[in-house]
Amino acid sequence: METTAEMNSLSHRIGIGNDIHRLVAGRKLILGGVEIPYDKGLLGHSDADSLSHAITDALLGAAGLGDIGTHFSDKDPRWKNADSQMFLQAVCQMLAERGWRIVNIDATILAERPKMMPHIPAMKETLAATMNIEAAQLNLKAKTNEGLDAIGRGEAIGAQAIALLEKA
Ligand code: MG
Repeated sequence: METTAEMNSLSHRIGIGNDIHRLVAGRKLILGGVEIPYDKGLLGHSDADSLSHAITDALLGAAGLGDIGTHFSDKDPRWKNADSQMFLQAVCQMLAERGWRIVNIDATILAERPKMMPHIPAMKETLAATMNIEAAQLNLKAKTNEGLDAIGRGEAIGAQAIALLEKA
């Protein structure tokens, strides 16, 4: 597997995504495109939806298309407070144009609080609709960091994702 042509002939490719945003007062908490009632929200140029950003990066990685910052710069005023579902949808469009179909995505939210489990079904529904896939193709999990590091102290919420694509 040495040439671009050989890479392009692959029928399946995987990608990984990782993201974290700081929790601050005075911001809405948006994860997976869902607003979660909480006294803090994630700080960032866009809506700072770390789960959606991790998934977006996993998809871009699988397709060999760089990362979210390359396509949606955090210096670009167009993306100030942007809905991250827009980024995810745009990336899915890029994949479709290149003949890639999403097989499945697995993602983990890393958050000490608030409790994520009650919001997982709505996140799955929202993200699946954005990506135009079945909810069953997306597995979402949430865990705490056992009180360790910035996430464990409730100062940030992170997410990890992995995605598998196949040639349509
Ligand atoms: Mg981010």
